[in-house]
Amino acid sequence: MVKRVYTVVVGGGPAGLAAAIAFYDAGGTDVVVVERDQHLGGILQQCIHNGFGLQWFKEELTGPEYAQRFIDEVEKRKIPCETGTMVLDMREREDGTKSVYCLSPRYGVLEYQCRHIILAMGCRERVRGNIKIPGTRPAGIYSAGLAQRLVNLEGMMPGHEIVILGSGDIGLIMARRMHWEGAHVKMVCELMPYSSGLPRNITQCLEDNHIPLRLSTTVVEIHGKDRLEGVTIAAVDENKKPIDATREYVPCDTLLLSVGLIPENELSKTLCIAMDPVTGGPVVSEYRETSVSGVFACGNVLHVHDIVDFVSTESTIAGRAAARGGKPLASVPIQAAYPVRYTVPQRCSLSEPFTIYWRSAYPLENGTVVLKINGQTVLKQKFLRVVPAQMQELFITEKHLETLRGYELSDAQISLEVEL
Ligand SMILES: Cc1cc2nc3c(=O)[nH]c(=O)nc-3n(C[C@H](O)[C@H](O)[C@H](O)COP(=O)(O)OP(=O)(O)OC[C@H]3O[C@@H](n4cnc5c(N)ncnc54)[C@H](O)[C@@H]3O)c2cc1C
Repeated sequence: MVKRVYTVVVGGGPAGLAAAIAFYDAGGTDVVVVERDQHLGGILQQCIHNGFGLQWFKEELTGPEYAQRFIDEVEKRKIPCETGTMVLDMREREDGTKSVYCLSPRYGVLEYQCRHIILAMGCRERVRGNIKIPGTRPAGIYSAGLAQRLVNLEGMMPGHEIVILGSGDIGLIMARRMHWEGAHVKMVCELMPYSSGLPRNITQCLEDNHIPLRLSTTVVEIHGKDRLEGVTIAAVDENKKPIDATREYVPCDTLLLSVGLIPENELSKTLCIAMDPVTGGPVVSEYRETSVSGVFACGNVLHVHDIVDFVSTESTIAGRAAARGGKPLASVPIQAAYPVRYTVPQRCSLSEPFTIYWRSAYPLENGTVVLKINGQTVLKQKFLRVVPAQMQELFITEKHLETLRGYELSDAQISLEVEL
């Protein structure tokens, strides 16, 4: 079955839904959302805790409530959504049109021929194989997101005596969830000397529930034959190498791993899109257009977000730009100078005001973030404290753009630096 449509949105999570709505509202009517799951809403369906939507809706919502607001808007606009439909491949033809190949329960193999694609496939969790913990291979080791799905959606408890490795937001939220469900959460271990979760989650999830956080500590061995019986933990030195003298056996029946997320970009690579090795997502312009003209990316497939409101903002930009017809990847690169870990966008055209999102490589205090063009300062912004978990924003206004445009842009270099 072949269908023609102007824009295909791949993924029906908050990013895909916000992009489809923005595309429609900007005058683009011919759009379809393709979602492999049976339901729209993406990862938000299993995030039943509150804390979503403070910026976008100015109220505190749970994940499913947040998703439902977007689903309602999609339905109001009668935007077609193909659920249960998995995108398997994408190709670009010589004339710039694209094909999106899907497996659909209604049509079997389905090809969408389109002008634009909006990538919104989210991300996946790193698992035990990614971090190579030695030991046996018993049952009882879960990624935190899988455990969240089992508890919140399937009504199953993965275990009762819990150790969590990784203090990112999913690990913190799951520590609280397992505690509330009656499990004994013995500790959250974190390899780094600081937590990679949002400060509010450390307070609300760990401190309020008296769950210890062991910083600079990792799991060095797994024990148990059929079911997990315990883990050995150890402190790590400044090179993250476990210190043998600190090895400690912790009996437990469940280990939850919250050790990072990877943008889901296998499909993006089939289109030969330029990728950013730091974010794991495509290189984009301020319009979220990738190096392949007419292909946009937004949400966790572009870079992992801490707050879904940023996802909605970013996806709105992508949807609007797709409706306007897109622009070739802008020419001026934005270089992230360490300890700025990365910026999104990574390139810009300087045609209208935009926001540079950035993250630091480690916690920074009392500094100034500085935007330079060809080594000359254009914009300075002071900060008190910046942590890697929290995405930072730098607004490029029309006034800044005037200064930037005063330079010869053909071989210009913009850099984002930090002065401490
Ligand atoms: C445990 C957890 C707690 C969080 N807590 C908060 C919080 O308190 N506050 C907050 O603001 N944010 C929170 N977030 C962040 C927020 O939920 C995410 O940033 C947001 O959901 C990302 O949206 P997305 O659409 O990019 O990705 P997703 O929600 O993952 O959606 C991607 C969609 O794409 C689909 N897809 C992937 N590949 C294909 C394919 N090949 N074909 C078809 N469909 C495909 C997937 O099935 C999925 O539905 C949390 C996230 C997690 C995981």
